[in-house]
Amino acid sequence: MAVEAENGNKQNGREIVLGRNVHTTCLEVTEPEANDEFTGDKEAYMASVLARYRKNLMERTQHHLGYPYNLDFDYGALGQLQHFSINNLGDPFIESNYGVHSRQFEVGVLDWFARLWEIEKSEYWGYITNCGTEGNLHGILVGREVFPDGILYASRDSHYSVFKAARMYRMDCVKVDCLVSGEIDCADFKVKLLANKDKPAIINVNIGTTVKGAVDDLDLVIQTLEESGFSQDRFYIHCDGALFGLMMPFVKRAPKVTFQKPIGSVSVSGHKFMGCPMPCGVQLTRMKHINVLSSNVEYLASRDATIMGSRNGHAPIFLWYTLNRKGYKGFQKEVQKCLRNAYYLKDRLRDAGH
Ligand SMILES: *Cc1c(COP(=O)(O)O)cnc(C)c1O
Repeated sequence: MAVEAENGNKQNGREIVLGRNVHTTCLEVTEPEANDEFTGDKEAYMASVLARYRKNLMERTQHHLGYPYNLDFDYGALGQLQHFSINNLGDPFIESNYGVHSRQFEVGVLDWFARLWEIEKSEYWGYITNCGTEGNLHGILVGREVFPDGILYASRDSHYSVFKAARMYRMDCVKVDCLVSGEIDCADFKVKLLANKDKPAIINVNIGTTVKGAVDDLDLVIQTLEESGFSQDRFYIHCDGALFGLMMPFVKRAPKVTFQKPIGSVSVSGHKFMGCPMPCGVQLTRMKHINVLSSNVEYLASRDATIMGSRNGHAPIFLWYTLNRKGYKGFQKEVQKCLRNAYYLKDRLRDAGH
């Protein structure tokens, strides 16, 4: 599994020395000749750098293992759009005065996810983010705006972006223990809720933890909140589905993520299971929450409810393209294939005596 630079300072056996960044693999920028714009030599040099880089990418992609990315894609048809500076800055549902955008694709993708997570078009708000982290930063911010004095609860195995959000927003954050599987331990959750009964609860629920792939039991989390005396107007649940958000709907007996349950937001990564070749993600929340968060920015002629300002306008087109090509059924097949492969690997490892 991916080694993410969390707290440890060893990565792949290499020592990381803070404050001493490594520059040895840097491709130095060389200034163009002073008198003319571009010499043939320079052009040839740049072409050779790019060709070597492409070869390296091909080689590295062949041995791509450990990161949960879907590499089964062909976006050749989208090459023609590379020449445009597509930017969806601002709110996906409100046209800004920047004309080169792809909001029509973005909203199409969001509607697809709204159907998947069972929320009416008129009741949700969302946007395509720059990564899974941005989805968590947004979901937790919405929770904080709904409950300004709320305490953030997250299992110890939660992604580091959750704890980063707590630091950025200066929220009180309570770490909840995990079971051996990596799921949140609801017995410990209950103890910690009861110790803070006077404050609303904002909970990060993991739909697939980064290292163990553990899925928190959403139903048990909700039940624990209710048993501890937290009514629905005193808690906010953000589901971090960066890893498995798009896999769980196709896994039998998995706890279902749906806005029919009292959750506030869900996020999923676009560059993991969906196979977008650039980092991105999808974030959905309830419209009623977003009104608490947003304010108007005059020069955009839009609403300001996103974390980022300018937003990648290419990413929504890639997501739209892959959803059209593979669709619900296609992703279902891929999930089944992944599970078959996982069982196969487990059996072979067991045969080999592990
Ligand atoms: C990958 C991941 C994230 C964040 O993803 P980035 O796109 O790298 O920001 C968040 N949560 C979980 C569980 C993840 O696996």
